[in-house]
Amino acid sequence: MTTTAPSVLVAGGGIGGIAAALGLARQGFAVTVLEQAAALGEIGAGIQLGPNAFHALDQLGVGAAALEGAVYIDKLVLMDGISGERVVELPVDAPFRRRFGNPYAVTHRADLHRCLLDACRENPRVWLLTRQKVVRHERNGAGVRVFTEAGQVFDADALVGADGINSRIREQVVGDGPPRVSGHIAYRAVLPIEQMPEELRWNAATLWAGPKWHLVHYPLRGWKLFNIVCTFHGERTTQGAGEKGSRDEVLARFQELCAKPRAILDSLTEWRYWVLCDRDPVAYWSDGPVTLLGDAAHPMLQYFAQGACQAMEDAVCLSHLAAAHRGDFAAAFQAYQRQRVVHTARVQISARLIGDYIYHPSGVGRQVRNAVFGAKTPEQLYDGLQWIYGGSGLPGGAGAAVG
Ligand SMILES: Cc1cc2nc3c(=O)[nH]c(=O)nc-3n(C[C@H](O)[C@H](O)[C@H](O)COP(=O)(O)OP(=O)(O)OC[C@H]3O[C@@H](n4cnc5c(N)ncnc54)[C@H](O)[C@@H]3O)c2cc1C
Repeated sequence: MTTTAPSVLVAGGGIGGIAAALGLARQGFAVTVLEQAAALGEIGAGIQLGPNAFHALDQLGVGAAALEGAVYIDKLVLMDGISGERVVELPVDAPFRRRFGNPYAVTHRADLHRCLLDACRENPRVWLLTRQKVVRHERNGAGVRVFTEAGQVFDADALVGADGINSRIREQVVGDGPPRVSGHIAYRAVLPIEQMPEELRWNAATLWAGPKWHLVHYPLRGWKLFNIVCTFHGERTTQGAGEKGSRDEVLARFQELCAKPRAILDSLTEWRYWVLCDRDPVAYWSDGPVTLLGDAAHPMLQYFAQGACQAMEDAVCLSHLAAAHRGDFAAAFQAYQRQRVVHTARVQISARLIGDYIYHPSGVGRQVRNAVFGAKTPEQLYDGLQWIYGGSGLPGGAGAAVG
């Protein structure tokens, strides 16, 4: 197929890459996604999406579709995992939705990815290629040339590296070496609703916090499943994603967890684990017609539940600015970087702080957490979250147009 529209290559077909492809195609660009895997898809686990994710999905034209499969929870609950006391609740019901203009919802990753993918498949300006592992790129006149492991070569006017935390594109643009291995381990599983203890079938994203560990649960897929994530400070020094986990390790690490939520762990036998990695924020990630997005640009610990939300905001920002600069990608990518670096760096840093001071403190730090958050009103909590839940990736917040 031939096209006269400016062309963009997107390396990586995760949530960020597919969102970027959709955003760019909706702005009139011809987009080719190069994904290393044999098939496009996501892992079988849940994901929390703040209102900012839905603002971004609205901008991408798939907000309603994304909400179809999602569960609208009523609250986010922080429990003291040792004493079992409720520390604080953040209501995310009707007043929250009115305040932020969209819900806080939980969904299945595969459902979210599929709704972005379906919209790409319906768009004649998107080409989706699998088994295409990008290994390097070089400048080609005003454009860019990309080389794959299998020896194929792709030329385009611009390149977006959405190839995740170990990005090959980042290696050449930023060159800051491998990610930081935090050693924190997240064990994930999904539990059929019948196996979830009845007294914990809450319509909430619930987090049981303990010293250097926490457990999260929330309902998924029309209440057929519960998503379970157990995170603790481990000793592993190498990366790992989706490895088969050991039930004994989880039970040993969560011995101090109070009885009610411990019953969840007793009934689970199948676990997969991820070794959590991030990077220190950087001030630049664009080089001429090449830029980065999502985890390739600003990988973060999961503790703010914002990695994918920020990747989708990036996609909105990038595609609007590419259109506003009429395909002058070098200028557009500098503007995108100016717009996104401080915001996403703040999320990266906040994610680390949330882990240290809210989810994992012990001793007097735990008491401080319980006292400070126990005293907060919903309005105070909402005010503290405006900077993140009010965003969509567009300058000026959710509804603003790019100037
Ligand atoms: C335990 C856990 C819980 C989380 N919970 C949440 C949450 O609740 N809410 C939230 O918003 N975020 C959450 N996150 C973060 C979120 O999962 C990520 O930030 C998000 O998926 C990043 O998307 P991405 O598209 O940038 O990168 P990825 O999802 O890493 O996608 C990168 C894609 O690029 C492909 N690729 C890699 N290298 C190459 C190459 N060389 N050539 C071609 N293709 C390549 C990969 O196969 C993959 O498809 C969580 C993360 C973890 C670990």
